[in-house]
Amino acid sequence: MSPWLSLVLALLVLGNDCSAAPRPRQPTVVVFPGDLRTDLTNKQLAEEYLYRYGYTQVAELSDDKQSLSRALRVLQKRLSLPETGELDSTTLAAMRAPRCGVPDVGRFQTFEGDLKWHHQNLTYWIQNYSEDLPRNVIDDAFARAFAVWSAVTPLTFTRVYGVEADIIIQFGVREHGDGYPFDGKDGLLAHAFPPGQGIQGDAHFDDEELWSLGKGVVVPTFFGNADGAPCHFPFTFEGRNYSACTTDGRSDGQLWCSTTADYDTDRRFGFCPSERLYTEHGNSDGKPCVFPFTFEGRSYSACTTDGRSDGYRWCATTANYDQDKLYGFCPTRVDTTVTGGNSAGELCVFPFVFLGQEYSTCTRDGRTDGRLWCATTSNFDSDKKWGFCPDQGYSLFLVAAHEFGHALGLDHTSVPEALMYPMYSYTEKPPLHEDDVKGIQHLYGGPRPKPEPRPPTTTPETQPTAPPTVCATVRPSEGPTAGPTGPPSPGPTNAPTAGPTGAPTAGPTDSPTRAPTAGPSVAPTESLDPADNVCNVDIFDAIAEIGNYLHLFKDGRYWRFSEAQGRLVQGPFLIRDKWPALPSKLDSVFEEPQSKKIFFFSGRQVWVYTGATVLGPRRLDKLGFGPEVAQVTGALPRGGGKVLLFSRQNFWRFDAKSQMVDPKSASRVDRTFPGVPTNMHDVFLYRDKAYFCQDRYYWRMNLQNGINQVEEVNYVTYDLLQCPEN
Ligand SMILES: [Zn+2]
Ligand SMILES: [Zn+2]
Repeated sequence: MSPWLSLVLALLVLGNDCSAAPRPRQPTVVVFPGDLRTDLTNKQLAEEYLYRYGYTQVAELSDDKQSLSRALRVLQKRLSLPETGELDSTTLAAMRAPRCGVPDVGRFQTFEGDLKWHHQNLTYWIQNYSEDLPRNVIDDAFARAFAVWSAVTPLTFTRVYGVEADIIIQFGVREHGDGYPFDGKDGLLAHAFPPGQGIQGDAHFDDEELWSLGKGVVVPTFFGNADGAPCHFPFTFEGRNYSACTTDGRSDGQLWCSTTADYDTDRRFGFCPSERLYTEHGNSDGKPCVFPFTFEGRSYSACTTDGRSDGYRWCATTANYDQDKLYGFCPTRVDTTVTGGNSAGELCVFPFVFLGQEYSTCTRDGRTDGRLWCATTSNFDSDKKWGFCPDQGYSLFLVAAHEFGHALGLDHTSVPEALMYPMYSYTEKPPLHEDDVKGIQHLYGGPRPKPEPRPPTTTPETQPTAPPTVCATVRPSEGPTAGPTGPPSPGPTNAPTAGPTGAPTAGPTDSPTRAPTAGPSVAPTESLDPADNVCNVDIFDAIAEIGNYLHLFKDGRYWRFSEAQGRLVQGPFLIRDKWPALPSKLDSVFEEPQSKKIFFFSGRQVWVYTGATVLGPRRLDKLGFGPEVAQVTGALPRGGGKVLLFSRQNFWRFDAKSQMVDPKSASRVDRTFPGVPTNMHDVFLYRDKAYFCQDRYYWRMNLQNGINQVEEVNYVTYDLLQCPEN
């Protein structure tokens, strides 16, 4: 089945380059060991292609020149190529181009799917993820791909978490369970099934492709001064060109990259995902690797797959695994993981020696095909280990938009400019062509008329959907940037240079003082002022469970909510009546369950109340936070006086007794809590469940069962506080 044959190596030209006179540089061509060469003849390639995509019924065309020519004409017509009936270079190039796996002629299925969906409120589930892109970027790509279609139809697409979804999205490799195997890198990229029950309507993506946004690997950054912006490859640093993250210029071995093309001018940077920054899964809470570490008596100074049969790279997070048994998995390095060659899946090693020269980036030297490659050991000349460097990758957004077209009932078109043309091509323009719009509107009609301009009330236009299960979902918002999970957007408050100014300080106290009053004494009364109604608050400053009440803070006031008391909301109360030292704007609040101390955070300041006694304000530095932490955006008490403190996309372990964070515990939110938005503004614990808030929504996660999985996404007001939906 495999058409590939590996070639035996031979170094063709190895000049002895000690001549004195300068002479024109001869391109040195090297035959790389393990380089894949197709052994398919053009005719075999054509036969396989024609069969796979529905142009012929049998794989073997025998030697009937007539039938091959006939099939080629059909294909050429379908793909809008010159109809020669010959296997000419244009046709061969088309057959080698990356494309969708759905046949051009006939249906994908052996059993008939429906032509279209019979309901308009479709649901989708992202079942798993590719490692090539950050999860929130994948979520966003799919949401935008659905929005392409919802913009021109009455259809809506709602993300859910479970098999009841109409459209289940999956990444897989080779045979992935449906009898239509993928083919490794390039070639076939993805496929989808027409509408219907079960696998019908599902979309599958080949995870041996490099998934990107169409313009190279997407590497998110951490810390630094670019607020999580992705790396910009290539970038220049001290006049040199870098196509991957580097440790150059640092003594601590941390990988970093520039987030603009020119670091020397712009000086914007962040740290790249690496095992020296954090690990994933494992049992160490995301702690970074410790090198060297000992495993089965041997010393390791890099991540290893030893001791595992699944090929995952891991490391110990203490110096001795044999003794401590603490470990984590090493983050994928999408910027330097090679494909092909003879060490696929390993990392480029920079610098490496090739023909006696040192290379610190990928190179095209030695190749006739112009592809970038690198060595995976420090010396190619002696070790001969190499692979191809990451290329531009395929735009997950564009491929998904195409596949979702199939999932809605569309077939391929012969209009090369249309989204539903079977071949992949990258564009930055809106992907829909008139032909696509005509096709989808033939099935579903045009978009619903827009509602009348919204009256100036606070009544929400979008009501939460109420599916029969507990796992309700968020409606994608209009427009191309759907849903609350967007790409990592730089928050305005995450400035790296945390100056000496925090929030306005509330009073001159830096030592425990007596509060003059002891909290609200007046029973809340019914108020007719809409501003007093908790249900009219879109986004709360902070939410925390204090003394069995959920407290919701906003602009100097707070409400108390108890489910035990018939879902009663009390308030608003004034923050200054109960906690007079506090500013009116809070970022986050938590009560440490053992000591009943309440921690209040605002900007770079923290106050700790014990009853009516306050300590603070103190600067976050006093808790062990570095200057890069501009605010604390949430807290999850974890028992035993331990608390997880959040700041945007990172979190730390905090010891409430010593009132210090463990600076080494810095971890990424999306690694430990997959599926929650990375730019949330509040995190709190309520009735033993973790809530991550963004915009008007919360993501609820059950931390008790050991699997950190989002079990519900819903509105804070309607679903948590049981506000009427009007
Ligand atoms: Zn297709
Ligand atoms: Zn499949």
